[in-house]
Amino acid sequence: MDVIKEREKSKLLIGLNYLDKRIKLGDPDKRYLLNLEKGFIGEELFDSVVKQYLKGEALVLNDLLIESKGTTFQIDSLVVTSDTVYLYEIKNYKGDFQMNSGQLYYISGQEITNPLIQLNRTRELLRQLLKEWGSRLKIEANVVFINDSFTLYNAKIEDPFIFPTQLKEHFKELSSRSKVIKKDHHYLASKLVSVHKDDLPYQKQLPFYKLDDLIKGISCCYCGSVDLIVTQRSCYCKFCYKQMSIEDLVTESVKELKFLFPDQKVTTTLVDEWCGNSVNYRKIRKILQNDFMVSGTTSGTYYE
Ligand SMILES: [Zn+2]
Repeated sequence: MDVIKEREKSKLLIGLNYLDKRIKLGDPDKRYLLNLEKGFIGEELFDSVVKQYLKGEALVLNDLLIESKGTTFQIDSLVVTSDTVYLYEIKNYKGDFQMNSGQLYYISGQEITNPLIQLNRTRELLRQLLKEWGSRLKIEANVVFINDSFTLYNAKIEDPFIFPTQLKEHFKELSSRSKVIKKDHHYLASKLVSVHKDDLPYQKQLPFYKLDDLIKGISCCYCGSVDLIVTQRSCYCKFCYKQMSIEDLVTESVKELKFLFPDQKVTTTLVDEWCGNSVNYRKIRKILQNDFMVSGTTSGTYYE
């Protein structure tokens, strides 16, 4: 099994995580962040099962965002074997659900977006794309319910669902059936990677923020708290009691600053302010000189 494309946290999730530490997010944004986090945790769990149980020859592509003929579609995970392309839509739902006339509901009766609609759309768009590229591989599409606290009542045996109790067996069986992967399969995988687009512009999807409104300070890399004790040599988190190096935290803060304010020139003064004036100014300058590219003249030095 070869992973051709690894999964990464989306820029939107990274951005919302950063903002969550430094402003009070509104309820819809907070909910959105929690959902994205939950989804990402589910996908990582899926990846770990794939790594453990998919032993045969196969190519794995994670998290593709494909634009074809003006339509964009997203694929959580794709496994290319000798004769089939397996498409997975991963859902990290927890609790009791029921199917009713092809619709998905919470057990309480509240309807939720049917993952089958999304799955069918993605399969159809993928089918068109593969046909266009002359591929003869079959497509098998499934919704994977990854959370082991998920229960679905009234599902039909023919529904394209893989439940937590079936996932390991699914990959074991897939491994035993897969034959030799050839040049064509690699060609297809590289074509898919080549049409993958990086994230949509994340800045537009984040809530509005400006530098003045954000809480300043270096933040704990374990729990995100900005309540740290900084001594000459290291930092301690008042919340989770972990100890961290000042250099690591300043470097991380600069990355965060650049992410949230990509157009802003990063100067020592700005970083000092961003870190809540908690770290010695000279130390900040030294860290910037060591870890970032120096640009500009002596009087207007900034770091890239
Ligand atoms: Zn902490």
